[in-house]
Amino acid sequence: MDALHAKYPFFEAAREAVAGASASLPTLVAEDAPAVERARERVERALLEGTAEPESGAFDGSESGDVARAELLSYPIARILVSLLDSEPAIEKYAAAEAATALDRIRSDIETDDELRSTSRPTVDLDEVLAEFDLADAVRAEPTRGGRDPVYYWIDVGAYLRFTSPSWGESWRLVNRALSNGDVRVSREELLEALGAAVEERVREGLPFDLEAGEGIAADLESRVAELKRLLSERTYTAPVDVVAPALFPPCMTNLIEKAERDVTLSPPESFALMAFLVGIGMTPDEVVAFCADTSLDAEGIRYQTEYLHDDRGTQYPPPTCETLANYGICHNEDDHMRVAADPLSYYETRVEEADEVTDWREQHGSDTDGADGTDSTGGGKPEAVEE
Ligand code: SF4
Repeated sequence: MDALHAKYPFFEAAREAVAGASASLPTLVAEDAPAVERARERVERALLEGTAEPESGAFDGSESGDVARAELLSYPIARILVSLLDSEPAIEKYAAAEAATALDRIRSDIETDDELRSTSRPTVDLDEVLAEFDLADAVRAEPTRGGRDPVYYWIDVGAYLRFTSPSWGESWRLVNRALSNGDVRVSREELLEALGAAVEERVREGLPFDLEAGEGIAADLESRVAELKRLLSERTYTAPVDVVAPALFPPCMTNLIEKAERDVTLSPPESFALMAFLVGIGMTPDEVVAFCADTSLDAEGIRYQTEYLHDDRGTQYPPPTCETLANYGICHNEDDHMRVAADPLSYYETRVEEADEVTDWREQHGSDTDGADGTDSTGGGKPEAVEE
């Protein structure tokens, strides 16, 4: 079994490898093979922590054959599990987490390639990833002097529009882009983010499977699905305290707000973390739009993301943990408070409980949040004076 397939299970070659595997998925599930537990972990971590990496550490392809086999086969089983959860937001979040994980692996592989390090682990290069998504002809590197690695690329406008979204921020809007002969100029990091969207689309494709509950593989996975549903309902987040006190926000969130207030575009993981936090403390979409009125975040993108964080039953998924935010470079563990909280919401809850007096931002900006469209608010995300 090719470890690269396990590392990128959504690649066409990996799908073929699964189809050609000696044991069928129903057999693996019936036998409760290691891939089944890894699939459960994969879905749990995707939904609760925004990553599909194993708890034991990132999979890089250098693991034993058995581990690689379980890793590869866990992917199609995870897709079945997430289908059985019967929740559209769960599918969206699962696909986003798989894409974020894949992007981390691609970045790591490309760095390895760039540094010409000898490595025993299987890696892909950028050209292979582009070819996987039929983008080889749609992307060309901008020449550099002295044979240095490309910093910018030109991507066909059709592919750009397909794999990016204006909801990612103003800078992604086509009108704000250099355009030449039908190609759009993007930085290397922006190209990778577009590839992340291509992965997400690939993962999302075909989900949910149409499975009859209580029959066949669905019956064999019933206990795993029940376990996931129980965990999700335990972790389903309702506002810990009904108060919006920016002065008590954890440093990671304050940093993101200040960055956005300097009109710096937040990366997709950064804006997801911030939106998930604000929704997590109970803010409505209108309130979030008003709160972020004077930032680089636009109302349309905020509404898209805040709606994504709810499902039609009102369930909210928690934002990423401190560990995941640290991996994204969003958390710098200021004051070593990772010791006291596993996630930004818990930290915020603790600070609110300990504060002597708390001023709710919504009381001072009530009119801004009534049907806010983000264009005339004087709210902004600036911390108010709040006594601890
Ligand atoms: S430790 Fe957690 S709460 Fe604190 S800054 Fe980091 S991510 Fe935020």
